[in-house]
Amino acid sequence: MRCIICDAKLTDGELLKRDLFTGLPLDTCSTCMGSIGEAVAEDFEYIDDVNVLSKIPLDKEENDL
Ligand SMILES: [Zn+2]
Repeated sequence: MRCIICDAKLTDGELLKRDLFTGLPLDTCSTCMGSIGEAVAEDFEYIDDVNVLSKIPLDKEENDL
């Protein structure tokens, strides 16, 4: 298996890396992973905020039941 971005051969560790949301293999080498890491980290913060907000009304509903 090779990196889908730069076509470098992937190490065993890189082959095991999976997308946290989809569970699909990333097939991306650590070099390319590092270059996109910052953008991903920003997305994580945003999604985390959305999850926290969406849990508030859900928890209230469960308490009513
Ligand atoms: Zn790469």
